[in-house]
Order: sequence, then C-alpha cells, then structure tokens
Amino acid sequence: MLTDLLKRNGEWSRQRDSDDPGYFTRLATQQSPEFFWIGCSDSRVPANVVAGLDPGEVFVHRNVANVIHTSDMNLLSTLEFAVDALHIKEIIVCGHYGCGGIKAATEDLPHGLADHWLSPIRNLARQYAIDLAQIPDNESRRDKLAEFNVIESVRRVAETPILQRAWARGADISVHGLIYGLKDGLLRDLDCTVSSGHLEAEAAE
Ligand SMILES: [Zn+2]
Repeated sequence: MLTDLLKRNGEWSRQRDSDDPGYFTRLATQQSPEFFWIGCSDSRVPANVVAGLDPGEVFVHRNVANVIHTSDMNLLSTLEFAVDALHIKEIIVCGHYGCGGIKAATEDLPHGLADHWLSPIRNLARQYAIDLAQIPDNESRRDKLAEFNVIESVRRVAETPILQRAWARGADISVHGLIYGLKDGLLRDLDCTVSSGHLEAEAAE
C-alpha cells in the first residue's frame, strides 16, 4: 500500500513538473495562500480537491466535525499564523452533510474521548431542540445540526482575540460558513459571514 502511494507521488511530481516547469522550485520559496480552511477530518472532504485549489492556495486545519474549542492550541496557533503571518483575508469554516462526528454527537452511546470533543455539538442540539424536533427524519435533522455547527463555529472564530485584534487594527478579514454535500460534491454558502464591518455595526448600536 505504501509502495503504491510513493509510486503515485513520484508520478504526480513528474507530471506536475512537466506541465509547469519550475513549479516546485517556486512553491518551495514561499507560500501565499488566499484561504484558511477549517474543516472536518473526513477523508471525503479534502479542502484542496473540493475547492478546486492547487498546493499553496489554501492553508488548512481539520478536526473531527470542524469543532472550534476556544482553548484548542492547535487551532489557535494555526489561526494566528494564518492571520498574523500569512495575512489571509478569507477564512472558511466548512462542515458537511452526512458527518460522522455530528451523528456520534446525537447518539446515546459512549464514544470515549470523542464525547468530550463533540460536547459543543451536543450543547447546540439542546439549544436548538425545538427547531430540530420539527424535522421528521434523522438524516435531515443531523444535516441541520451540521449547519448550526458551522454557524456556531464561525461565531467562535470571529470572537477569538486573534480576529478581534486583527479587526481592531483595520485588517480586512472575513469568516465564512460553508457546508459540503457528499452526495453532489457542492459547497453551499450558509450566509453567516462575519467581517470587520460587524464591529462598526455593533459600535453604531
Ligand atoms: Zn465530518
């Protein structure tokens, strides 16, 4: 299996260099991605592939069910690097329909450490219990919860001191919420974007 993987890598590298001579030499000197992607670890939702982006075009952090724990040093240090060092202007939180992490969070079964990890989703399910109860089938109900999770994650990213500091110094950064359909390969905008403008709106209130 690993031999096959290394063979495919060799073929890809040769093909890439033949299509675009000097590609790797250029990419090795610096990265200047336009997007920071926070998504689920699910193997069916690779950021570069589903967004049609090449190596060097998207900076990525992934975890089970794209949960934002505000004390997650892995996420926070990646976010800080994206904002302060790479000066990325577009942050995308991307969930997906049919998410196993969302399903686990809605089950009454013990999942070990995952139960701690997924606790913000369980809280969301409680918070939106009335809305979710209107949806008759389990799959659609979980997909709606996946959307709520993205919207909540966007809010949590926007509330980090990293984004608050960046906006206070006038940085033009937007945090978007998208959801990906495993059944059709399409990304949908959940229209929950938070950008520097929201601070001005709040100040005017
Ligand atoms: Zn998932």
